[in-house]
Amino acid sequence: MWAVVPAAGSGQRLGAGRPKALVQLGGRPMFLWCLRALADGGVDAAVVAGPTDRAGATALSGGLRNAGVAMPVSVIVGGPDRTTSVSLALAHVPETAEVILVHDAARPLIGTAVVERVVAAVRAGAAGVVPALPVVDTIKQVLGDRVHATVDRGDLVAVQTPQGFQAQVLRRAYAARTGPATDDAGLVEALGEQVSVVAGDPDAFKVTRPLDLLLAEAVLSRRLAGSA
Ligand code: C5P
Repeated sequence: MWAVVPAAGSGQRLGAGRPKALVQLGGRPMFLWCLRALADGGVDAAVVAGPTDRAGATALSGGLRNAGVAMPVSVIVGGPDRTTSVSLALAHVPETAEVILVHDAARPLIGTAVVERVVAAVRAGAAGVVPALPVVDTIKQVLGDRVHATVDRGDLVAVQTPQGFQAQVLRRAYAARTGPATDDAGLVEALGEQVSVVAGDPDAFKVTRPLDLLLAEAVLSRRLAGSA
């Protein structure tokens, strides 16, 4: 089983002045945390789509050395949007791979359990699998500054990564894409394939803004205190 890890985001909204994957979290570059969880969850090897600038790519490869990640990880140069980054990384996954997970490096604190839930559902035959959490806010559709409708949130979920796929389905979905998508399952859905849902992980939130980084540091401190 292989993982593709898009990690080429600029981190502009985080305002750290460097690619997000390289922002320090718990004393390590952020992207390293998810690689450990993926390896612990049974992933055999990973391709990371890293920053497009030479300095960023070099720093990312350097971060991997002596990082103690228990699987082979190769680093490629990402693209201008997430979909292109994933597509470029997919080209480096061997044709023999049967299951592929796609996981955002920007969700560093995934637990092993959610990886295992996703993998189990793919192995059970699902074409695609997404981890999801209930939506907690009330969601409204707006037109300009006017509310158009209030959506019944009982039918809504917030989707995370890792998303898991039968490798051939994911490759077909990427070959058929017509433009950037916000997640990989969306491309698989566009093929008419069924995507299943498993329980998400509250710790798998995406680090986007400075407040998310504070929260991630707090989650890590709690984990370290729990294991002391
Ligand atoms: O920007 P956003 O946080 O939605 O990005 C989700 C993931 O996609 C992040 O892990 C980011 O590094 C990655 N990404 C990428 N290539 C891009 C833009 C984002 O690999 N050009």
